[in-house]
Amino acid sequence: MIERTIFNEDHDRFRDMVRAFAQKSVIPHLIRWDEAGAVDRDVWRQCGELGMLCPAIPVDYGGAGADRLFSMIVLEELAPLGGLGISLAMHSDIVAPYLVAFGTEEVRRKYLPLMARGEAIGALAMSEPIAGSDLKAIRTTATKAGDGYILSGSKIFISNGTECGLAVVAAKTDPRADAKGVSLFVVDATMPGFARGRKLKKVGLKAQDTAELFFNEVHVPASHRLGEENQGFAYMMRELPWERMQIAIAAIASAIQALAMTIEYARERQAFGKAVLDFQNTRFKLAELKSELQIAQVFVDRCMELVLDDGLDATTAAMAKYWCTDLQCKVVDECLQFFGGYGYMHEYPISRAWVDARAQKIYGGTNEIMKDIISRSL
Ligand SMILES: Cc1cc2nc3c(=O)[nH]c(=O)nc-3n(C[C@H](O)[C@H](O)[C@H](O)COP(=O)(O)OP(=O)(O)OC[C@H]3O[C@@H](n4cnc5c(N)ncnc54)[C@H](O)[C@@H]3O)c2cc1C
Repeated sequence: MIERTIFNEDHDRFRDMVRAFAQKSVIPHLIRWDEAGAVDRDVWRQCGELGMLCPAIPVDYGGAGADRLFSMIVLEELAPLGGLGISLAMHSDIVAPYLVAFGTEEVRRKYLPLMARGEAIGALAMSEPIAGSDLKAIRTTATKAGDGYILSGSKIFISNGTECGLAVVAAKTDPRADAKGVSLFVVDATMPGFARGRKLKKVGLKAQDTAELFFNEVHVPASHRLGEENQGFAYMMRELPWERMQIAIAAIASAIQALAMTIEYARERQAFGKAVLDFQNTRFKLAELKSELQIAQVFVDRCMELVLDDGLDATTAAMAKYWCTDLQCKVVDECLQFFGGYGYMHEYPISRAWVDARAQKIYGGTNEIMKDIISRSL
């Protein structure tokens, strides 16, 4: 593979540490977590102690003030192992940046250190039963009341929903306006009226916590509004390229891992007196996948350089998200085939990679929405 040039020695050391953590504290528990439908809560605190949570958050707020390559490393090492990588990314690199960029000083000081230590888990609550792709159609409302707002409505498919200590919630402050009537709020899970629904049973990412949330006239102080009123949609548009980039990073890392385990299996497995890897079909197919992943990795790394320069635009991020997740799904499907019947068995990691991959084309904006965004630049 072409040598990657975006990382320095500090990044390499951090990667070694994350990899050792995964070997010791994640991989041995994967099947148990899948069966329980949740990771052990304590794993969050362990990640906090090791500096794996909120690495890019300023030191003043409990983070490491590091660049986003550290976040990329956490994702690359953990996303191929199941839902934990996505949960941590949601917390550290989607929710926390909203607080840093738009939160009041009170909110930043209260929540960010707790998040960096893994004592409070963050969720992002945008999707609703009637509005996913078309976010401007959300019906959750935030009505002004005294020094604050009364929040009412419900959200669905919320990652970290069952365990979250706080959620960034999108609500209409002007229900007559479309996108220009949306504001964002930090809702504390202890606020009266906040309720969690059932934990949703998914076909993949089984250990990842995805839940419904309900807001029954929750009184949210004005200091918990993120930024200006009715600017929520603009803020989301600003944050989404990095969110989508994270999905692309997870996609390529997961697909590379799937390819590696497939090569290993095909080398060992015998049929017709030779290794499965020695059939020309196997070699050609795996050669194709390896080539496509190499091309994708170069593109992802270049996009990451743009992230570091604050120059990743919405169109390029949409290209990365759609193309890399499509490729991930193709790679894991074709890899699974080389495992034969064993590939369909839960204890084989390739089967989990296959079911886990499917959600990647849906969340963070569906791949159809990504193409719509790209097409606006034609
Ligand atoms: C595992 C998981 C975790 C998630 N985590 C979160 C989370 O933490 N927070 C959160 O807020 N949401 C989360 N989501 C929700 C996710 O973002 C939405 O499911 C997604 O945006 C799609 O919305 P929808 O499900 O309502 O589908 P719909 O919007 O109803 O779309 C249905 C179909 O119509 C297509 N479609 C819609 N509009 C168009 C269009 N204009 N052009 C062409 N095709 C179109 C879509 O591409 C899709 O194929 C999560 C979802 C999953 C599966």
